[in-house]
Amino acid sequence: MSSTVEQIVSRPQIRETQCFIGGKWLPAASGKVFDTIHPATEEVIAQVAEGDKEDVDLAVEAARDQFDGGEWSRLNARERGRLMYQLADAIEAESEELAALETFDNGKPISDARGDISLVADCLHYYAGWADKIQGDTIPINGEYLCYTRREPVGVVGQIIPWNFPALMAAWKWGPALAAGCTIVMKPAEQTPLTCLRMARIAQNVGIPDGVINVIPGYGPTAGAAIVKHPGIDKIAFTGELATAKIIQREAAETMKRMTFELGGKSPNVVFADADLDVAAEGAHFALYFNQGQCCCAGSRLFVEEKVHDEFVDRLIEKNKGRRLGDPFDPQTEQGPQVDQAQFDKIMQYVDYGKQDGAQCVSGGQRFGDQGYFVEPTLFAGVSDDMRIARDEIFGPVLSVLKFNDVDELVRRANDTNFGLAAAVWTRDITKAHRFAAQVRAGTVWVNCYDVFDAAAPFGGFQQSGLGRELGEAGLAAYTESKTVTVSLG
Ligand code: ADP
Repeated sequence: MSSTVEQIVSRPQIRETQCFIGGKWLPAASGKVFDTIHPATEEVIAQVAEGDKEDVDLAVEAARDQFDGGEWSRLNARERGRLMYQLADAIEAESEELAALETFDNGKPISDARGDISLVADCLHYYAGWADKIQGDTIPINGEYLCYTRREPVGVVGQIIPWNFPALMAAWKWGPALAAGCTIVMKPAEQTPLTCLRMARIAQNVGIPDGVINVIPGYGPTAGAAIVKHPGIDKIAFTGELATAKIIQREAAETMKRMTFELGGKSPNVVFADADLDVAAEGAHFALYFNQGQCCCAGSRLFVEEKVHDEFVDRLIEKNKGRRLGDPFDPQTEQGPQVDQAQFDKIMQYVDYGKQDGAQCVSGGQRFGDQGYFVEPTLFAGVSDDMRIARDEIFGPVLSVLKFNDVDELVRRANDTNFGLAAAVWTRDITKAHRFAAQVRAGTVWVNCYDVFDAAAPFGGFQQSGLGRELGEAGLAAYTESKTVTVSLG
């Protein structure tokens, strides 16, 4: 756990632990707090206000006031964009502090947290540019009429986010919402509330009007459910588990809220024998183990063509041996702990399932160290399509390798899932690559690369991996309502 090249980063100060409502920092109405921990040491690092329905009610009131006639609703679009640029710039200026806070709360290695925060600023810069470019159409309808559409903000949005990319998921949701002119009630995940609260402080400092962004830390079935059911909220944007999304869909139906969902996956990652195997092995390793395997789009079903299968598995075993686990504040660390005990237990359960179902654990499979929720990078070979480790989302550093020969059969197998978030293919043959990209049922397909994200490129799932898209223009559209205006010229 020592670094020779770059200094171990110091632990950041935790300043924001309360609800942020209408520009005020408030304890929960109930007075309750919950612990947030550092997953590498399991120590409690802060107690955070446990928001619930009463706090959500106040936050919705503040957000509605701004939306229905407050300063925000009167601000012209270019000025809104200017404030967003300032927010993005201020986040960039505080990026080192924010990255350290992310590492403290989530456990991800500091080098990864720095990458996340730079994407946060990039996403907000990107959407700042959209604020004054949201236009409708003029439509040539029959008769003597002028017909045009306006794209108006959808209203007050409830945004519920997970713990795997806490700051980045906040940015993905704030960016389009603010650009469109919406106001926000956000609930960060109970495991990782700290960076979202810090971002709210930065938004306040740059002059985003009070009540535009409200943050209620707390639990899903209480604070989260209160957001979902609130009649003053027009849209829910959710990222998390499929099972939670189904509850939300049912509960939000009562008030006919607009909904976007970004859920889980069991993404097929396909390596053909003609691929550049050095690049493919690096890519397949990264596709699964990045962020401790806690990615909704993780390449967790690795299909390798039989001719190169054994050699490829050997390469992956070597890479796992060289992976550096340890103190996430050490810039040399590549893999930190899982986020909490529950995730750790779930992953170890799946390692057992893999063994019980007859797969060969050829690397890892154990806890790493005796403190913190570390899991060794784990590799299963000899996996068949029906095993639990090939069907369920594990959300940890457990990779399943499946063999294939026949390409048509491969497409059928890749699509044999209820998910459809992402897929990737590694080959030097462009025909094979494009054919696979067209045939696979997934919202994102990477060719000879993995996890390439950009604020301008839409992301979201087919089937049970989600509803709607985030990022890009498609992500913005989900925060607007279209209004048709018809004027008689008679
Ligand atoms: P994960 O397994 O990634 O924690 P969840 O779907 O449980 O996925 O959590 C994602 C987010 O959804 C978190 O902010 C969590 O608090 C919230 N959440 C959980 N249950 C509910 C619910 N019933 N209603 C609204 N939000 C919820």
